[in-house]
Amino acid sequence: MPRRKENPRRQDEAAFIALLRGRGLAVTEQRLAIFAALAASREHPSPEQIFLAVRQKLPNLSLATVYKNLEALRAAGAVSDVNILHEQGRYEAALPGTGAGRSHHHLVCVSCKKVIDLHDERLDSIRVSPRETQGFEVRAVRVQVEGLCPDCRNRPKRRSPLDRKRR
Ligand SMILES: [Zn+2]
Ligand SMILES: [Zn+2]
Repeated sequence: MPRRKENPRRQDEAAFIALLRGRGLAVTEQRLAIFAALAASREHPSPEQIFLAVRQKLPNLSLATVYKNLEALRAAGAVSDVNILHEQGRYEAALPGTGAGRSHHHLVCVSCKKVIDLHDERLDSIRVSPRETQGFEVRAVRVQVEGLCPDCRNRPKRRSPLDRKRR
């Protein structure tokens, strides 16, 4: 993308602050930092990864606080969780209008658990028949495509997932 990174981030932050205020939630330094870390990442990070990223800015932050805030932000609709196949929740920023908030599906590697966004209009148009939804009011249909990512396909021996988390 030709646009510089600063601008969309500031828009994301403004949308985030507006959403918190609209829901009567406090705009705290912790929530801003957690959301900034999520909005800056397309890796669908785990709470631990978010914690490590945010701790550089807020050294007193605890992992428990990250969990608590993620849950509050998820309930408010600012982030969504992508947690199928994962023992830990995996999160992404989810504000309408922000890059990360565009409706999309996911490619999930069953080996390294990497999650990649998948944009496919044909998947967006999937509708579930009301006869099959057993009384559910359907909010969204998200497709998870499972398989082996190119890294894992090209690697005959399994590598520890910890190896790839290190930067
Ligand atoms: Zn993989
Ligand atoms: Zn995603």
